[in-house]
Amino acid sequence: MTDSTPKKHIVIVGGSYGGVACVNKLLHYLSKDTSVVITLIEKCDARYHCVASYRALVQKDFAKNLWIPYSNLFPKGSPHRIHRGLVKNIYNDHVLVTPVHDNNAGSSTLSSEPQRVNFDYLVIAAGSMIPSPAKWTVTGSKEGLRKLDETREDIVQSERIVIIGGGACGVELSGEIKYAFPDKSVTLIHDMPALVDYPRFPESFKEEARRYLTNQGVEVILNERVEIEGLSRENSVQKAEREVKFKGSDRVIHSDLQFFSIGIKVDTAFISTLAPPNDNSTLDKKTETSSFDAQTLLDPKSHVIKVRSTLQLDHDAFPNIFAIGDISNADPVPTCMAAVAAGETAARNVIKLVRKNEKATGGKQHHQSHLHRHPQSEGTTGAGDHSDDETNGYHCHSWNKLENYSPTQTMMVLAMNPSGGVSHLPVLGTWFGNLAARVAKSSDLFSGRFWSEMNMPRP
Ligand SMILES: Cc1cc2nc3c(=O)[nH]c(=O)nc-3n(C[C@H](O)[C@H](O)[C@H](O)COP(=O)(O)OP(=O)(O)OC[C@H]3O[C@@H](n4cnc5c(N)ncnc54)[C@H](O)[C@@H]3O)c2cc1C
Repeated sequence: MTDSTPKKHIVIVGGSYGGVACVNKLLHYLSKDTSVVITLIEKCDARYHCVASYRALVQKDFAKNLWIPYSNLFPKGSPHRIHRGLVKNIYNDHVLVTPVHDNNAGSSTLSSEPQRVNFDYLVIAAGSMIPSPAKWTVTGSKEGLRKLDETREDIVQSERIVIIGGGACGVELSGEIKYAFPDKSVTLIHDMPALVDYPRFPESFKEEARRYLTNQGVEVILNERVEIEGLSRENSVQKAEREVKFKGSDRVIHSDLQFFSIGIKVDTAFISTLAPPNDNSTLDKKTETSSFDAQTLLDPKSHVIKVRSTLQLDHDAFPNIFAIGDISNADPVPTCMAAVAAGETAARNVIKLVRKNEKATGGKQHHQSHLHRHPQSEGTTGAGDHSDDETNGYHCHSWNKLENYSPTQTMMVLAMNPSGGVSHLPVLGTWFGNLAARVAKSSDLFSGRFWSEMNMPRP
């Protein structure tokens, strides 16, 4: 193959759990194949390992696990690259990216001039926002660490800490704070009858989470709603003297530090520019504008991207675009393990489409410029050929045998301190006692696994 041979471009938006798992699987299958180039677009200068955020909040030394450099992700000398920037708009064959620049003070700014990055295949893995200190609205690791240090100092300076929201994040946050600072008063307030009240999880798990926190010294208040002046999703850490008034009773408690730990949110605004290629069916002949409504690609309530079981967008016109992880509706409960599994499935399906396309066009020398020129023939309902072949060591089925993604099993490990927590595991069920939580998660919060996945030695 010569250098002038057109290459296929796979673009991945978001370099965290889902995006990196996808990249690693693609690298595995592509091996030394230089006809395919991967570009990972990521707004941050390092990968943020958010699962470890609460331990890093209370243990300064643990913060070194949080931001993992991208420098060893791609093999040296490979054609693949990391593109630092914020994806603002997605089209059917390219994305527009606003570059991010760091200044000497460690914070970063967006440049206004967008850059175009073309793709043949796109995997959207842009994740979600969870109120800080779980995730921070930053694009630089230094700024993220500075905010974390400030919040740790806020905890040190406080006596009466209130956390609103008893989902998995609120439970872990209150457990970690109480364990690290046993003399401080920690109150967790939740407006439901049970903590971690997710569908498909048994009552025993929810009750065990409450019992564990209570034994640790956290005051757990259920079935109560409160509003705290100044505290919101946007201002989710507040160091202020506040009277916390309960809506359902006359009770009032005093607090000098509050955390808002409710809700996961996705930003899918970048999809509003997506429209089918050569879209005659929705083209208004007079105005030459498409009447296609990209909002139909989103779940109307949660705004996550709707995907098929193959993880392709739920529309026949975009067989070359996939969405995985928290930003998609692939799993009922979004988790990093689900994002990893979906990233690997998406990688296998993209490779199948690449090989299928090569086969259809008579080998690597005769590339089509864009797969989606023939959306119907490449769609999920079309008739591909049913033969199998071996390409670069990958057992390549015809495209209509794309792999179906199975949502991950109901499992959750709540790490409430370095030596334990509460687990609900497949087959075993709710696990009372620290051992399972410690072995599965609590001791290092998967840091070893994810540093090694990035080919980096653990700091
Ligand atoms: C404290 C805590 C503990 C958790 N514990 C567990 C656990 O034990 N087990 C478990 O399975 N899950 C756990 N989770 C949930 C898990 O972290 C999420 O489900 C996971 O982060 C989802 O991964 P993702 O790759 O889809 O998205 P994210 O992790 O959100 O990553 C998205 C990436 O995309 C980048 N990005 C976003 N928008 C753009 C854009 N427009 N342009 C360029 N880049 C962009 C972001 O910077 C980020 O790097 C926990 C979460 C928290 C906060």
